[in-house]
Amino acid sequence: MSKKIITPVASLAHILPEDYRALVEKGPHGKSVGIKDLGSFKEITEEHPHCAGCGVSLGVRLALAALPAPEDTLVVGTPGCSFFALSQTAVNYSNTAFGNQNSVASGLKRMLSIRYPDKDKDVVVMAGDGGIADIGLDMTLHSWFRGEKISTIMLDNEVYGNTGGQESGMSPEGQVLHMAPKGKNFKKIPVFEMARTAGCVYGAKVTIASPKRLGMAVNRAILLARELGPTYVQIYTPCPTNMKFSPADTLRIAKEAGKAHYAFEEFMTEEAALRIAAMEGGLEKEPE
Ligand code: SF4
Repeated sequence: MSKKIITPVASLAHILPEDYRALVEKGPHGKSVGIKDLGSFKEITEEHPHCAGCGVSLGVRLALAALPAPEDTLVVGTPGCSFFALSQTAVNYSNTAFGNQNSVASGLKRMLSIRYPDKDKDVVVMAGDGGIADIGLDMTLHSWFRGEKISTIMLDNEVYGNTGGQESGMSPEGQVLHMAPKGKNFKKIPVFEMARTAGCVYGAKVTIASPKRLGMAVNRAILLARELGPTYVQIYTPCPTNMKFSPADTLRIAKEAGKAHYAFEEFMTEEAALRIAAMEGGLEKEPE
C-alpha cells in the first residue's frame, strides 16, 4: 500500500481518464492535507450513488479527507449505505460479511504489523450504525476489549436506510419509520459510552455540520490508534429519504442535532491526552 498502487506505468498513463490522472497528480496521497484544505486537492471520493442530500455521503467524504495517510490506510466496511460510496473510492477498501468488520479489521491490522513492522498502516473501520451497533456489536466490543489498534468510525444515520427504513439500535426512542410505524420502543444504544468502558483510548461524537471538529476527531482517532489502542468516532449523518426531510435541509438537521442529542463530546485516557498535546502542541485549540 503506497502511492505506487495508483501510479500507472508510463506507457499506459495516457489512456487513463482525466479524473484518474488528476488523482495521481493532485490527490492527497503522500501529502499533508486535510479538511481545511478541501478544494485545493483532488479528493479520494467526489461522486457517489447515494440519494440527494444524503448525510452518509458527506460523512464519508469528510472522514476520507481527514485521513492522515490515505496511501497507507485500509478502510474496512460492511453492507449498508456507506458501502456504496466506500467501494468506489481511491483508497484500499475491504468489505466484509454484515457485522464482521471489526473482526476482519483486527486480523488485517495484525497481519500488516507483521508484514510492515517499520511502517504505520492505519486500519479504519467505516460502517453504519446497523453494522457497528446491531449486527456486529459483539465484534465491535470484543475488538475494543482486546485493545486492537484500529479506529472505528460509525456513520450514524439512525436507521437501516437502503433496506426500506427499519429501526436500528441507534434510532432514537419514539422514532417513527416505514418499518416502525408505531415508533421505536427503546432508547438509542449508548455505544459512545460503551466505547469508553470497553477500552477505547479516545472517542468523539460529532455531526457532519461541524467539519473541522469531525476532521480533528478522525485525525486524532487514527493517530492515537497507531500507538495506544482502539479509538471510536461516532458521526451523525442524517438520512433525508427515511427521515422525510428535504435533501436541502440535511445540514440544518445535523446542526440542530449538534445542539441536542448529538452535542460534541470527546473522551480520552490520560495517556491519549498527553499524546495529543505532544502532537498538536496543546489542547486549548478546539475547532468549531
Ligand atoms: S437511504 Fe438515507 S442514508 Fe441511505 S443513501 Fe439514501 S439518504 Fe443516504
